[in-house]
Amino acid sequence: MTHSASCNDDPHVLMVDDREENLIALEALLSDVDATLHQARSGNEALASMLKHRYALVLLDVQMPGMDGYEVADLMQLNPTTRGTPIIFVTAINKDEPHQCKGYKSGAVDFLFKPINPFILQCKVRVFLDLWRQREEIELAMRQLEAANRKILEQQEELHKLAIHDHLTGLYQRRWFDEMIDKTLATAQRTGEPVAIALLDLDHFKTINDTAGHEAGDDVLVSVAQSLEHSIRAMDTVFRYGGEEFALIMPQARLALAQNVCERVRQAVACSSVPTSKGTLRLTVSIGVVCSNEFEEPTPREMMRTADMRLYEAKSAGRNRVVPVVPVVPFDVDTTTGTSA
Ligand code: GH3
Ligand code: MG
Ligand code: MG
Repeated sequence: MTHSASCNDDPHVLMVDDREENLIALEALLSDVDATLHQARSGNEALASMLKHRYALVLLDVQMPGMDGYEVADLMQLNPTTRGTPIIFVTAINKDEPHQCKGYKSGAVDFLFKPINPFILQCKVRVFLDLWRQREEIELAMRQLEAANRKILEQQEELHKLAIHDHLTGLYQRRWFDEMIDKTLATAQRTGEPVAIALLDLDHFKTINDTAGHEAGDDVLVSVAQSLEHSIRAMDTVFRYGGEEFALIMPQARLALAQNVCERVRQAVACSSVPTSKGTLRLTVSIGVVCSNEFEEPTPREMMRTADMRLYEAKSAGRNRVVPVVPVVPFDVDTTTGTSA
């Protein structure tokens, strides 16, 4: 349902009376009031008009042929969009308390008695228009506050993203690795499932910088990051651990399975040619891998120390390899289960 009145509009007031002369008189009395005036000559016309406009106030004649003012008010109560609209009943008869109570039960907020006292009419109408304006201001302020809150949340999300991602490769960075390894290992210990970690270091990367330049070196790092992401399993996470060092967290992986993932990573890097501004470059990676079930009480610190030692061994043994040495396995091993496809 649409309403034409918005926050910036004048308040709209609906005058309902079956007698034309009463509407003309009301209109004249309210000509000084800062509001847009609407007229309806029956209950049905009034209800139809309320579907088109959101009224700040309805001045509702009680005695009307067909649907009387109380019935209009009762129907307004049933509709959520008109339920909150203030009603002032205008009546010439039925001024006694029982009738007034009936009106209040139907949703009236006030009564005006004919013949109408112009001063009282204007004062009452102004009170409701002021209330309407105040409510509009509060609603506008609430909307602005909500929008500001949404923006703050978006900015917080963006800041968090920036804080945990490496700006060059887009991979998660070291700080996030430290948090994730703690969580992953805690979960693994609870479920009894193994978790593997690998440390990767690009071989002779300094030579690439020295010969092709730092910018080409950056291109290589970005390309290697993509190779790593494509070679790991969906449940694994790759991190940029430091300059030309990367790390992998492999949940639910025994050592043999983790070695297979690392071997696939090693081959992906070794097989790729990286286009840079200084021509196509090739490089290799050395990897140390470790599994939590190799320890009685695995800690991130112990596991990282072992992975680092194995990485060092891989370097000493001639680079471009995974330590522990990968057993001979068929190339199409299913790395999610560790079984041959
Ligand atoms: P090794 O096989 O023993 O690992 O040799 P290496 O040359 O890879 O190792 P070294 O630690 O001597 O050199 C690493 C180089 O990585 C040195 C540093 O300038 C470079 N590097 C680190 N971070 C970045 C980066 O963000 N961009 C570029 N282009 N180079 C980087
Ligand atoms: Mg290094
Ligand atoms: Mg290196």
